[in-house]
Amino acid sequence: MTLPTTHVSFPAGAVTGESTVIAVHPLGDGRHAVVTGATPFHPLDHTWPDQPADLGTLTVDGTELAVVDCLTGAVGPDGGTPLAGADIPVRRGDEEWSWLVLHVVDTDPGDVVGRTAVLAVDADRRAALSASHSGCHLLALALNEALAPRWRKDPGRSDALGHPDFDSLAMATSVMDTEASTDTYRLGKSLKKKGFTADATDELPALADALPALTEAVNTRLAAWVAADAPVRIEVPGPELTARRQWHCELPEGGAQIFCGGTHLHHLGELAELRTELRLSEDGTELVAVTRPKRA
Ligand SMILES: [Zn+2]
Repeated sequence: MTLPTTHVSFPAGAVTGESTVIAVHPLGDGRHAVVTGATPFHPLDHTWPDQPADLGTLTVDGTELAVVDCLTGAVGPDGGTPLAGADIPVRRGDEEWSWLVLHVVDTDPGDVVGRTAVLAVDADRRAALSASHSGCHLLALALNEALAPRWRKDPGRSDALGHPDFDSLAMATSVMDTEASTDTYRLGKSLKKKGFTADATDELPALADALPALTEAVNTRLAAWVAADAPVRIEVPGPELTARRQWHCELPEGGAQIFCGGTHLHHLGELAELRTELRLSEDGTELVAVTRPKRA
């Protein structure tokens, strides 16, 4: 019999919980993966690994174990040991597979299957990662708006605020840590074909020359959204790790939604400041945004 997909409480912001241990798997290097029926821990996603793992503790029968990593595991229809990370051969959420939160501990927890685990996420680290992740989505919306005049035709994809979705059309990588979100965009031929221009035109300077003004426009918009203390929530269609969740933010310009598996602030007033720095790679083929939240 294969294990059920883990239920998760992190989308609502939970950092603590209690659940029954349903499996323990050795990971080969002295480390073990502890699987519970439900958890507040956010694992690294294997398909889109933007938000790092929660860390914290797992306590069984009074013995506290450090959770030193947290991974997405997957068990195929034939059961067996869960696979993790790049070893998973299917996309996130494949319905034939079970999807597990693997709490990685660096000792052998012993025979704890069937016992109750008390789960506690490092709340300060989580809050910092949530701030970076909310900052990432807000940057996407503000950058789309600031770059809107550079589209010579409609690329056929708009964001929730109605601007051409540069963020999703050009996205190469998005990586968060406790300090910042770093988003890298590819300014290649395919983006040009869709209608984006980084070159100077009759109305616009070249993107390289426009960066200071663009940065200022984005930061002005981000500051207004923080000042508006816009509420944020995650829409959760089901309790499973793999449910298709959506980030919602009630901005003054209207409600914005982005599909998202991560964790977030509850309202933007939790930030004192949110600022981005934009730069081009040396060869001019990539635009990089480093967005830093300062928590209030
Ligand atoms: Zn997200």
